[in-house]
Amino acid sequence: MRISECYAGGRFGLSIEIFPPKTADGDTALRQTLAELAPYAPDFISCTYGAGGSTSKRTVEWCQEIQQKYGRSATAHFTCVGSSREELVDWLQFAKTAGIGNIMALRGDPPAGQTDFKPAVGGLSYANELVALIRSHFPEMGIGVGGYPEKHPQAPSMDADLQNLKRKIDAGADGIFTQLFYDNAAYFRFREACRRLGISVPLVPGIMPITEFARIQRIAQLSGASIPAKLASRLEAVKEDKPAQFAIGVEFAIAQCRELIDQGAPGLHLYALNKSHACKQILDALEINRA
Ligand code: FAD
Repeated sequence: MRISECYAGGRFGLSIEIFPPKTADGDTALRQTLAELAPYAPDFISCTYGAGGSTSKRTVEWCQEIQQKYGRSATAHFTCVGSSREELVDWLQFAKTAGIGNIMALRGDPPAGQTDFKPAVGGLSYANELVALIRSHFPEMGIGVGGYPEKHPQAPSMDADLQNLKRKIDAGADGIFTQLFYDNAAYFRFREACRRLGISVPLVPGIMPITEFARIQRIAQLSGASIPAKLASRLEAVKEDKPAQFAIGVEFAIAQCRELIDQGAPGLHLYALNKSHACKQILDALEINRA
C-alpha cells in the first residue's frame, strides 16, 4: 500500500518500524516479532537504513521479506549519507526492482563525533533534495519524511525547522512521520504550526513505548525528545525493576495513543525496536487488531 493511500479519506493508518539486526540471533528474533505483529495488519512495516549506509542492502532485503513472507507492504528508509546523486538513484532503482513502493526519505545523521552533516561528493545536503530526486526519477513512489514536534536538534529555531519541513512537502512528500515524543502537547502544537504553514499531508505520530528506562533515556536525549517529569519520576522510582518499567511504559503509551487518536491523529507509527510485546499490548488495548 502506498503511503498516500494509508490515510486517504480519513482512513486510520497503522505502521510499525523495525531495523535490520546485526546478528543471526537478531534475525531470528525479528522474524518471530514480524510473525507476531503481521496479524495486526499494519498498512506498512518500515525498515531503517543504518547510519552511514551500513545496512544499505539489508534494508531492501528485509523489506522484500516483509512483503513476501508476512504479506505486508514495506517502506524502505533511505538517507543521503555517503552517496552521490548517481549512487542514490542506483539504490532507489534497486529498491524499486525489489518491489518496494514506499521510501522514508531522510538526510541521515553525521557520523559519531561530528556535529555538522557534510554531504558526500556529488551528493545531497538535505532531505528535501532527496524527496525531489525521488519524485523526478520515480514519480510513482510513496514518500514519507521525518518531522520533529520538539524541533530537530540542529535546527536554529522551531520556525526555521518548520520552513524546512515545508520544503520536503513542497518537493512531493506524501506524509510526515514524527520523531518519538512523550508529550502530546508538543505534537498538538506542531500540528497547529504545520496547518498554519499550509502543510496538509498526514502528520503521523511516532510512538516509542518505554520498555527499558535507561535505553529510552539515551534515545530520547539523542533525538531531543523530552520525558515529562511525572513519567520520569515514576520510572526513576523503579529503576532496578525492569518489568515494572515495562508496565509503566506500556500503560503510558496506551494513554498517549488513546489521546492522540481521540484528538484526530491520522494513524500511529510504532517504533517497535524489533520487539512485539509492547506493541501487541498497545494494539490490543486500543482494539487495533484488524486481522
Ligand atoms: P532534514 O529534513 O534535511 O533536516 C536536517 C536539519 O537541516 C534540520 O535541522 C532542518 O531544519 C535543516 N534543514 C533541512 N532542510 C534545509 C535546507 N534546505 N536549508 C537549510 N537547513 C535545512 N536516520 C537514519 O540514519 N536511518 C533511518 O532509517 C532513519 N529513520 C528515521 C525515521 C524517522 C521517522 C525520523 C523522524 C528520523 C529518522 N532518522 C533516520 C534520523 C534522521 O536521519 C535524523 O533525524 C537526521 O538528523 C535528520 O534527518 P531529516 O531527514 O529530518 O533531515
